[in-house]
Amino acid sequence: MTLAPRSPAPRKPPARKKPRKRARRKPNPYLAWRKRLDRTRPGLIEFTLDELAGLYGQHTWARRWDPTSELVLTILTQNSADVNAEQAFIELRKAYPSDKPVEKHNAGPGWGGAGLPDGAPPDWAAVDIAPLEELVEVIRPGGLPNQKAKGIKAALASIREARGDYSLEFLGEMSALEARNWLTGINGVGVKTASVVLLFSFGLPLMPVDRHVERVAQRVGLLPKKATADQAHDYFLAMLEPDRMLEAHVNLIRHGRLVCHAQRPNHMICPLRDRCRFFEPKAP
Ligand code: SF4
Repeated sequence: MTLAPRSPAPRKPPARKKPRKRARRKPNPYLAWRKRLDRTRPGLIEFTLDELAGLYGQHTWARRWDPTSELVLTILTQNSADVNAEQAFIELRKAYPSDKPVEKHNAGPGWGGAGLPDGAPPDWAAVDIAPLEELVEVIRPGGLPNQKAKGIKAALASIREARGDYSLEFLGEMSALEARNWLTGINGVGVKTASVVLLFSFGLPLMPVDRHVERVAQRVGLLPKKATADQAHDYFLAMLEPDRMLEAHVNLIRHGRLVCHAQRPNHMICPLRDRCRFFEPKAP
């Protein structure tokens, strides 16, 4: 019996590939806000900066302190007047003197203190190993000494563990956001503190947002009403040209301190009045 040749099994048609859904990119809320401002209130950012520059001047960057001193000083200013933070820093220098070169310290723009006298930075290794209670007494003039002594010791220990010493000069080689991420990785160092250190020590384009900056910007309408203080940093990064961040930071602080007070802002002498939504809710 001859077998009839087997007809090949019918081939399954190849499964049709489902068209891949294109992954939708999440819109960047900071850029979206910038675009919205450009569309609905054109020129507002430039107007604000130009008017404030007319009042308070423009500022060129110059280093104030080495970055580790800047970090510790910024921790000392948290919820305290700048002059008290300066006094606490002077006490740190006295209690833990170092043989490092003397730094020429100046108050610099935007600083509300009297300015530190020239001096060598404290011996950070000695501060790191100092008993906590001792450090609390040394920095007491700065206010909130328990909280700040812990913060300073934690920051110094983190830097030593990560780098083997206390220098933060390496941050100047990083991009602004990489450096900010590195610093905020230290327990207790927030976006504002990190931005202050990097803007003032290296001139990196970051925008520290304190309560004055936030208040003025919110009132004018530069920030969305529901933006948190941390988010405000990134809204500004999306809005400002890198070379205007120092100027924006310094002048918004000055305006908040001198004119746009939390209570009874002095609208009548304010050059932002024509475009301020706090003064005129329908301002352009
Ligand atoms: S107009 Fe008044 S509320 Fe608006 S920025 Fe000036 S001082 Fe502040």
